[in-house]
Amino acid sequence: MSGKKVLIIEDEAGIRMTLEDRLVAEGYEVESRADGVKGEEAAVEGRFDLILLDLMLPERDGLAVCKNLREAGMETPILMLTARGTNLDVVIGLRQGADDYLAKPFDTSVLLARMEALLRRAPKTDAASEASAFRFGPFVLDRTKGELLLKNETVPLSAQEYRLLDFLCARAGRVISRDQILDEVWGYDSETTTRTVDVHVAKLRGRLGESEFPKHIRTIRGRGYKFVQ
Ligand code: CA
Repeated sequence: MSGKKVLIIEDEAGIRMTLEDRLVAEGYEVESRADGVKGEEAAVEGRFDLILLDLMLPERDGLAVCKNLREAGMETPILMLTARGTNLDVVIGLRQGADDYLAKPFDTSVLLARMEALLRRAPKTDAASEASAFRFGPFVLDRTKGELLLKNETVPLSAQEYRLLDFLCARAGRVISRDQILDEVWGYDSETTTRTVDVHVAKLRGRLGESEFPKHIRTIRGRGYKFVQ
């Protein structure tokens, strides 16, 4: 696994330095940051093959960092380091898009084995192009072209329908309120109401051929919508 780039986001200097030394000795290229905000920035700016992310971090905790990176479409494997080791944290971490976790204190050889497993699993293709194509059912949302494809044919969408679909796809599996959709897809200054969201969701369902039985864009009663991949 030599030559792979690893980002360590860990505030405890002792652990950070020990990990740096060991990973460099193993042939990894290593960068590290000591808080969540700087860590997230580094993750976005650099091209890393793997991120070691501490859960309890100053400025922004590991769960938020993980969530933000996944929402931004980043698919780099993330291994969470948790001091708490409670099942709940682990479950939340994995839901936010972490690929694996290790409870502290851990044996470095165990960490190295887990890292190697994640690096083997990581897609060989360029992470950016993977993230730019989102597949659901028979559809592909091609973010590079800004188009929705069905069996390589473009599905006609208005600009607003595309924006709404892109927004929902980026948050697949999570319930999103109408207000949140309105704020983020239409903008804070918008004069539109949440009814507008419902109208566009109905149109989008029509485009997907699921007006009668919504398969991908589900209504969650009293809460909003959830995109199901
Ligand atoms: Ca910590």
